[in-house]
Amino acid sequence: MTLTEMREILKARDLLLTKSLGQNFLHDGNQLRRIVAAAELSPTDSVLEIGPGLGPLTELLLASGTRVLAIEKDGRLATFLRERLGSQPNFTLLHDDALAYLQRRAGDLQSPLEAPAPEAGDFKSPAPADWKLVANLPYSVASPILVELALNPRGPERMVVTLQLEVARRIAAAPDTDDYGLLTLLLGLRYQCSGLFKIPASCFFPAPDVESACITLTRREPPLLDERQAKVFVRVVKRAFSQRRKMMFKLLKVDWPEDKLHDAFTELRISPLERAEKVSLEVFTDFCRLLPT
Ligand code: SAM
Repeated sequence: MTLTEMREILKARDLLLTKSLGQNFLHDGNQLRRIVAAAELSPTDSVLEIGPGLGPLTELLLASGTRVLAIEKDGRLATFLRERLGSQPNFTLLHDDALAYLQRRAGDLQSPLEAPAPEAGDFKSPAPADWKLVANLPYSVASPILVELALNPRGPERMVVTLQLEVARRIAAAPDTDDYGLLTLLLGLRYQCSGLFKIPASCFFPAPDVESACITLTRREPPLLDERQAKVFVRVVKRAFSQRRKMMFKLLKVDWPEDKLHDAFTELRISPLERAEKVSLEVFTDFCRLLPT
C-alpha cells in the first residue's frame, strides 16, 4: 500500500487520524518487508497483529501464507479492513482493545488465534502450540502489551514489533546504563533481543514526533526459571526497582526475611550496598533460585 493510496482511502472515507491511538501508518515498502523478514514466517505460522490500521503490514503477512488474527481498536478502521481483507480465508479481525483482550485471554494464551472471541467466527489455528506477534504497535500501550505477553509462560515464540526507539533501547539495555530497568528485566526473563533497526519518521504517515525502531525478541528455550521461580523474579525486580536510587537489600527487606536475603547476597557475592540497576539478569535469576517462594 503506497502513501498515495493511504491518503486516498483516508480522504474517500473521511477518516481523521486519532493521535491518542498512535495512528501513524507505515507506508514504506522496504521497511514493511524488513519487518516481515525479521519474523521468519513459514506458512504454518500463526500471527497476531495488534493495530493493523489500514492493513499495509497485514497484507504482507497474509501474502506469506500465514494465518493472521488482527486486533484493531478503531471501529472505522476495523470496518475498512473487513471490507478489504475479510474475504481472505486466513484472516480474522477483532474490533477490540488489544491490551484488554490479552488480559482477558491470559489464562489460555497458548494460541490467542485458536479460540477467538465469538465475533471472529470459526477461526482455527493450524499450529495451536506456537505463534508469533508481528505489529507496528500503538506507542502509548506498547510497553504494557509487551509486558503482558512476556510474563505469560505461553507467550509468542517471537515478537517483531515497531515502537518508540527509546522503549526499544530500554528493552535491549545493558546493566549499569540509564536505559536498564524494570522493562529490560520483565521482558528479558523470557525473551532475548535478536535484532533492532531504526525506522525513519518519514516512513510513516503522518510522521511521528518521536524516533521509531523495530525490535525482534526471541523466546528463550529452555526458560531461565520455572514458573514458580518466575513469579518470585517478577516480585523481586518490581520491588528492587521501586526506588531506583535506593539499595536493593533495603528494598527487598520489605518482602523477604533478612537472613534469607543475607544468605543469597553472600552466596552470589552481591554487596548489600548494591543498587538494582547494576545487577544483571543472570544474577537476578540466580538470586531468585535461592530465595524462598
Ligand atoms: N499497522 C498499521 C501500520 O503499520 O500502518 C498501523 C499502526 S499504528 C502505529 C497503530 C494502530 O493501532 C492504529 O491503527 C490504532 O488505531 C491501533 N490501536 C491503538 N490502540 C490500540 C489498542 N489498544 N488495541 C488495538 N489497536 C489499537
